[in-house]
Amino acid sequence: MKSNLHSHSRYDDGSEELESYIKAAIEKGFSVYGFSGHAPVNFDTNWHMKADYLDDYLNTIDELKEKYEGTIEIYTGLEADFYPGCMDWRSKAGIDYTIGAVHFLKNEQTGSVMDLDGTKEEFITTLREGFNNDIHSLFRAYFEKLRNMLLEMPPNIIAHLDIIKKNNSGNFFFEETNPVYQDEIMKTLELIRKTDTIVEINTGGMSRGYVTEPYPSRWIWKICHDMGIHITVTSDSHHPDNIDYFFDEACAQLKEIGYKEQRILYNNVWQDVRL
Ligand SMILES: [Zn+2]
Ligand SMILES: [Zn+2]
Repeated sequence: MKSNLHSHSRYDDGSEELESYIKAAIEKGFSVYGFSGHAPVNFDTNWHMKADYLDDYLNTIDELKEKYEGTIEIYTGLEADFYPGCMDWRSKAGIDYTIGAVHFLKNEQTGSVMDLDGTKEEFITTLREGFNNDIHSLFRAYFEKLRNMLLEMPPNIIAHLDIIKKNNSGNFFFEETNPVYQDEIMKTLELIRKTDTIVEINTGGMSRGYVTEPYPSRWIWKICHDMGIHITVTSDSHHPDNIDYFFDEACAQLKEIGYKEQRILYNNVWQDVRL
């Protein structure tokens, strides 16, 4: 069964209308499609949804649900950033699910926003100004923030678990065999299991040319499988052309390591369906 619960649109930093994604999804034989626009934040950015757009976003998805009922199941989500003072979107009326993300860290001293999911130059700045060029401190700060999110407001799905590898092509910043890195990931996976949060296998970094394998890396899938952690395959699409980018390959690779099912919203219930 084909599904994707991670998708952007022109309401945030994607392009095209919501309906364009649904039309593409129907054409490609999807049974389930969920939108997860970047939830509004309390500071200026150029990639989150403006708070003024939120009602229109929710209403438009409601209209699409009705229009395409019987053809494809559509769900209303938000990709919600976790940071000091953030909103808890899980209880917002009309929201079916949230994808919890840490895309940036707030500098405690200056209050400035330090990007983790930006350009390589921005990551270099974050590492220098926030962590004195100590990559281990950055690992700890990022994964600790994820764990705080899991403890304080666990989402349905945890977004791109190892997003900090985005600009790490050629191991520019670190090696994934780094024991501190692996230890932080293990601690985070323990909490993911405890909170029964779904790990997304996110192909969006590949479709946009940042990375050569999904978030998280395949060695982490194996650990997730051994720990009994549920996964869901997503494309983090920012354009209707990419809604199933690398899905066939990802599903085949998941099956190779033993996954038979993914967990998705279907018939309005989280359930495991065959990959
Ligand atoms: Zn994201
Ligand atoms: Zn996203």
